[in-house]
Amino acid sequence: MTTNTQNLSGQSILAGAATTGNGRAVHGYNPATNEPLEPAYSLIDLDQLKIATAAAAEAFESFRSLEPAKHADFLDAIAENIEAVGAELAARAMAETGLPEARLTGERGRTTGQLRLFAKVIRQGDQHGVRVDPALPDRAPLPRVDIRQRKIAVGPVAVFGASNFPLAFSTAGGDTASALAAGCPVIFKAHNAHPGTSEIVGRAISKAVADFGLHPGVFSLVYGPGATIGQALVADPVIKAVGFTGSRSGGTALMATAAARPEPIPVYAEMSSINPVIFFAGALSEDPAAQAKAYLGSVSGSSGQLCTAPGLVFVPTGAGGDAFAQAISSQAPNTAGQTMLTEGIYNSWIQGVEALGGQPGVELLGRGTEGAGQNAPAPAIYSSSVEQLLENPVLQDEIFGAASLVIRYDSAAELVTALSKLEGQLTATLQLTDADHETAAAVLPTLETKVGRILVNGWPTGVEVGHAMVHGGPFPATSDPQTTSVGTLAIERFLRPVAYQNFPNALLPRPIAKDNPWNLTRRIDGTLTTTGE
Ligand code: NAP
Repeated sequence: MTTNTQNLSGQSILAGAATTGNGRAVHGYNPATNEPLEPAYSLIDLDQLKIATAAAAEAFESFRSLEPAKHADFLDAIAENIEAVGAELAARAMAETGLPEARLTGERGRTTGQLRLFAKVIRQGDQHGVRVDPALPDRAPLPRVDIRQRKIAVGPVAVFGASNFPLAFSTAGGDTASALAAGCPVIFKAHNAHPGTSEIVGRAISKAVADFGLHPGVFSLVYGPGATIGQALVADPVIKAVGFTGSRSGGTALMATAAARPEPIPVYAEMSSINPVIFFAGALSEDPAAQAKAYLGSVSGSSGQLCTAPGLVFVPTGAGGDAFAQAISSQAPNTAGQTMLTEGIYNSWIQGVEALGGQPGVELLGRGTEGAGQNAPAPAIYSSSVEQLLENPVLQDEIFGAASLVIRYDSAAELVTALSKLEGQLTATLQLTDADHETAAAVLPTLETKVGRILVNGWPTGVEVGHAMVHGGPFPATSDPQTTSVGTLAIERFLRPVAYQNFPNALLPRPIAKDNPWNLTRRIDGTLTTTGE
């Protein structure tokens, strides 16, 4: 299998085999022109899906037991294969998504960096999470036997890629990387907004699978409608967990399917978030025009199609807040629209903006200009009050794209009331100076219960990939607030603990063997150590 993009096949990759789907064929589209892109992608049917799921089941045992060095090298090799594609990857992704080259080049770096970070995790072995309660044969009144815990891979995982990150949240994105790192085979359901990009990256993964002599069922890439193939994938008994990034309706539909199975499984869905930004009075006392400029940049970057885009901004009443609002009105016309990902997402944005603008007590604060080409709407900023926000749930609806709502508040107490009524969010941002610490401290306890990440004096639209990051939050930001889809902790979603009680050393799996052959850091009787026993 080659990673040459000149020769896209329009086929799924079912357990390593490029396969023409038995269903109809669909094109990707250039959203800047609404013109179809070659080749057409043939959609698989349910029998063909079974080829992928059966192979994933077969691949599971050998893949989850891979020796750590080979497992880590495999992830590194996927990263190398993606890089080896060269500039053609960004070129195809640009044509399919309308996103600019610099953004896609950066996203490729994030994608390969993510894979390499998980390779490091595997080499270090933290994911085994070993805990040992040594035997206490002399304990009275009853002795304790030796108990050892480690984490194992849950089984094959279904991943649904996001439209808005064709690389970092797609075929070899965070969900795939963390599932493969956990030792789970992956069946990836491609997003129809970037089928060619998915094929290029899918080939890079499949090449690594073949080069490392792994079972081909470790990875499959399928093209098919979500309503049939996506649903059947999640319902298939082989699948043991699901990773998803997309709409609230899509995520909740998959949650319902997973919960209704004879054996229910977890769905890790990242869905809807409006990412409140809170300005405190001090932050608007010096240069509200500069704050307005930064805000408009964060709203309109990537055409606002970021899960962390600031859709809701709390601004205090008073002179600083007034100056900020005026600056938004005067600067907004300088903000140009950019091509959105698909015509469908553009149409949803138009509907969302019309719905918000039509609500009582909501006024247009500023409007940008349309961008060149198709599907590049003028960014829109609205304003309203806490009273309206509390009364009208439409004001909390995510509008995926460059739109945002400014809410004026009178007091810290009113702010806390408003925040307490918000749905779960991926992020919240505090814009403050030293003079605002007291008010910010009053707001923090409420915010902590609502969001996955709180940041100070920045903008939420960049997500670092590291060990401390949380890209998660209570529903509807995600389906499971105990997890993150970005950063090394994401691997935990695809692992589960198993305890081994009173085992002879010869039967213990290597991560928990008494002589600690992999030199893991293990918690023995509650204390972290690298020694044996
Ligand atoms: P989407 O419509 O939810 O689609 C995402 C993936 O899920 C696609 O592969 C889709 O397949 C599949 N899918 C959707 N509904 C399904 C269902 N009922 N059963 C099974 N599979 C299903 O999301 P999108 O196309 O990426 O974007 C649309 C909207 O999602 C945006 O307007 C925005 O509101 C939201 N969005 C949010 C985030 C975020 O991070 N918060 C990110 C991206 C998008 P098919 O297309 O084949 O049906």
